[in-house]
Amino acid sequence: MSYVNMKEMLDKASKEGYAVGAFNIVNFLTAQAVVDAAQELKSPLILQTSTSTVKQIGIQEMAEMLIPIAKRATVPVAIHLDHCTDVEFVKKCVDAGWSSVMIDASKQPLEENIRQTKEIVDYTKGKNVTVEGELGAIVGVEDEIVVKDGEEAFASVEQSREYLSATNIDAFAPAIGTAHGLYKGEPRVDFNRFQEIKAISPCPVVIHGGTGLAPEVFKKLIVLGATKINISTAIKIAYCGGMKDYTTAHPEENNPLKLDKYVIEQVKKVAKEHMMLFGSVNRV
Ligand SMILES: [Zn+2]
Repeated sequence: MSYVNMKEMLDKASKEGYAVGAFNIVNFLTAQAVVDAAQELKSPLILQTSTSTVKQIGIQEMAEMLIPIAKRATVPVAIHLDHCTDVEFVKKCVDAGWSSVMIDASKQPLEENIRQTKEIVDYTKGKNVTVEGELGAIVGVEDEIVVKDGEEAFASVEQSREYLSATNIDAFAPAIGTAHGLYKGEPRVDFNRFQEIKAISPCPVVIHGGTGLAPEVFKKLIVLGATKINISTAIKIAYCGGMKDYTTAHPEENNPLKLDKYVIEQVKKVAKEHMMLFGSVNRV
């Protein structure tokens, strides 16, 4: 139990046909809320940190906060760095104890993307750390990475094959039409492309931009082999929305503990809904 490598978690999910939710947390409250949700539902969990959150809190401070939470958990928990475009920053997080990292060099030409991804794969050798890489451009805003509508680039099967065999990563995030943030219209998920890429991928395939996808879209992606699904915006909405709702309903109150208690429940609820949709309940 407790603090594990993401790879073992995703291999088990792949064998048993479900997906593990990777929830972007922003502080102790949100981290504890998603861990509580996972423990209550006996679900494996990926505690995901965006690069900007880590920069704001500090690498050491974040590691010292999250690793004990993961170790205390009664379910398997991985700690994953999301979308980092800075090779040196990724290495610092590996050194600080993250069990999983994403190097996102997807804005670079394929050759440079391969070079940077390989540098991280080589750096993590023998360290029991999982590496996720991305190919193509996922539309929307994630951290400092902005991809405008119409500028998204789907990952091609040929380039995926080349990228995967050259890098030997542990988890692959190809752009297949999902988007970061909130969907403006109907999501245009390219299931055929996903299926083709999954068929040639030796490692688990990850879905970014999970917030706002319909339950049937999640189900279809999981049937086709998605084993890690990222949920960021829904957690942020539960957190900020929970605060707004509580302070609006109790304008005279200044009790942070009551406010936090309410907000924790809102974040937990959203995390649980996704765990149930992903089929990761009672898998530990
Ligand atoms: Zn993402």
